[in-house]
Amino acid sequence: MIRPIKHKGLRRFSLLLCPAFFVLLEAGNLWGAPLKVVTSVPDLADFTRRVGGSAVEVSSLATGKEDPHAVPLRPSSVIKIRAADLFIQMGLGMEHAYAPALLAEARNLKLQPGRDGFLDLSEGVHALEVPVSLDRAGGDVHPQGNPHYNLDPVHAQRMVLAIAAKLSALAPDQAPQFRANAEAYTREIEEKLQIWKSRFSGKNVRFVSYHRDFAYFERRFGVKEEGTIQAKPGIEPGPKHIETLASKMQSAGIKLIVKESFYGDRVPRELGLRTGATVVSVPIFVGATPEAKDYVGMMESLVSAFTR
Ligand SMILES: [Zn+2]
Repeated sequence: MIRPIKHKGLRRFSLLLCPAFFVLLEAGNLWGAPLKVVTSVPDLADFTRRVGGSAVEVSSLATGKEDPHAVPLRPSSVIKIRAADLFIQMGLGMEHAYAPALLAEARNLKLQPGRDGFLDLSEGVHALEVPVSLDRAGGDVHPQGNPHYNLDPVHAQRMVLAIAAKLSALAPDQAPQFRANAEAYTREIEEKLQIWKSRFSGKNVRFVSYHRDFAYFERRFGVKEEGTIQAKPGIEPGPKHIETLASKMQSAGIKLIVKESFYGDRVPRELGLRTGATVVSVPIFVGATPEAKDYVGMMESLVSAFTR
């Protein structure tokens, strides 16, 4: 009787041809290889590192030092996206200047909107300042409403949990660790949030900023922005706008100008000299300044600037 020869090497080869093998390879986590994650902004990279630990390899397209509405298109970003298992963005148009073009150029099908490797964290955000018309009369860069919700630590906590859920879906064997890491980080942010809130207590902080970055921050901490140097989001000011703003600051007694770190000094400084207001430069993303080395450091620095 002739028996079929079962060759060990051949059996191994058959496993390689098995469709399930390729599914596992696609998942990117076979043999414990870290998930490659690309985030649009460094805040999301910080959250992902804290949740994923050694199970993730994270990089951010923006450095935190640029205007978030004008991040340059870098060839190195295309290479990162092409090799990634997951792309995470804030959405609400925050990344409109670079993410859609880079994702299209990289042609990584796993990372296209709607696929498992694409996570938009604006789901669950009640967007503020959504324009009533689509003619961009309200400004050039916030067509879907104000996207700067990273400056509200409650949204940061929500993002941390959403990232943990996504990483768990991509690497289910590590889900308990991701959940534990996320819970530890949200607890840390919660403890800090209570301290930050107490520092604003009784302060009645009123200020002018360069761009409309603080809509969510205002609501969380009870501060009040009385105007912006930009005429509208993304629209640089003319002399008439500055004139009106200076008069308003003088009549309302506004003594604080908050300048986001990447904007030039000239206009804020002139406005400060004219009105007697102090100009402070602040980070609005992780990585913007040496103090903003992570999310808690960035928020500490921001709260200190507002409550000095
Ligand atoms: Zn903006």
